[in-house]
Amino acid sequence: MNSFLKMREKIIPKAVYNVHKIIIDRADDFLIYDDKGKEYIDFTGSIGVLNVGNSNKNVVEEIINQAKKFTHACFHTYMHLPYIKLIDKLIKITPGDFEKMGVLFNSGAEAVENAIKIARHYTNRTGIITFDYAFHGRTISTLSLTSKVNPYKKGFGPFLSEVYRVPYPYCYRNEKKFKNENDCSNFYIDILEEHFIKYFDPESIAAVIIEPILGEGGFVPAPVEYLKKLREITSEHGILLIVDEVQSGFCRTGTMFYWEQTELDYDIITLGKSIAGGLPLSAVIGKKKLMENIQEGGLGGTFGGNPVSSAAALASIDFMEKNKLWERANKIGEKVLNRVKKIKDNSRYIGDIRGKGAMIGIEFVKDKNTKEPFKEFVSKIIKISREKGLLLISCGVYGNVIRTLMPLTITDEYLDKALDILINSIMEVEKEYEK
Ligand code: PLP
Repeated sequence: MNSFLKMREKIIPKAVYNVHKIIIDRADDFLIYDDKGKEYIDFTGSIGVLNVGNSNKNVVEEIINQAKKFTHACFHTYMHLPYIKLIDKLIKITPGDFEKMGVLFNSGAEAVENAIKIARHYTNRTGIITFDYAFHGRTISTLSLTSKVNPYKKGFGPFLSEVYRVPYPYCYRNEKKFKNENDCSNFYIDILEEHFIKYFDPESIAAVIIEPILGEGGFVPAPVEYLKKLREITSEHGILLIVDEVQSGFCRTGTMFYWEQTELDYDIITLGKSIAGGLPLSAVIGKKKLMENIQEGGLGGTFGGNPVSSAAALASIDFMEKNKLWERANKIGEKVLNRVKKIKDNSRYIGDIRGKGAMIGIEFVKDKNTKEPFKEFVSKIIKISREKGLLLISCGVYGNVIRTLMPLTITDEYLDKALDILINSIMEVEKEYEK
């Protein structure tokens, strides 16, 4: 075994999991090279961080320019332009033409934590509604919102009190055979309203936080009708609606942010991952009235909005806009859907394929009727694909979904190559189970 892999095992806990036990030496946009020089096509985007590609030239140039001027200026000590310009940009590109304000942080979890702080402060209420299958981060309070016990929550409690979990409208994973999306949406809205009678008072709830498309939980878009009713219900009870677009944001779903496609109102949006071309940064953008009265010093942190990360974000967003990267996401998604749909009917194990733009989930089951999750199948696809030069990543509470998070800069040639590998790997594993 490579001596650094051995060293890693000795000094870094296994809790810090590695999907692919390879060490990356360099990257070229959507390609990764390991320390032995083997080339891989990256369908993980390092979990959705690399929508503009790895080491994007424009981003790197801005990083260097900014680093030469100054590497850090804590916004609480003295201000800098990248922070102010980035908030101005995010306000312009996020959905909603209401008056907004924004704050920068370091990670998705930190953005979510702060969205909760803002919601509690404004409403003077404490309760938070979250969903099963949700993933909002790994800090104690975001873990309180996150679903999936093992590995995320096991042994790490107690968690925040007054977090109420309701079922996510995951229409496929329901015993009922819904006639259509509206039918599914009504079913889940009824459950939510039942909760107001049985479990908690809506008037004590500060916010609902929702991923409009589940990320970690399985790449499942919520029916727009459900989101519409959710907005109506939250407005009726003075509950704020926090939209978590940490994973779905920045062109992935075919628009700059997925929420644009719903044309609905919201209160706060959390952003992260692909915001800064690979540098750590996150943001909370929300209605001005929610943030303007928080006491001086109430929000922030040492590194939030670091100037190099902020400059990288401005360059990333500029690249997305100039290249209309959302259009590319739609083209990529169409290709993935077409290729996988062609084999779905003849496959015994592909239960569902779904998504928006290039955020596609392929769910594997042991039996199409029982829908029993088939995690081992997915693990095998990932292993075989890696051997053939494609890096994949799974998701889903049951680990039985392949998700696509390739850089949106991937060329058609390499996309075809990657899809050939994916399809062949699926067929190979199918054959293995047919024996
Ligand atoms: N919210 C969503 C929807 C996510 O997908 C993630 C990470 O996967 C987070 C929040 C947490 O982000 P981070 O890992 O940067 O803390």
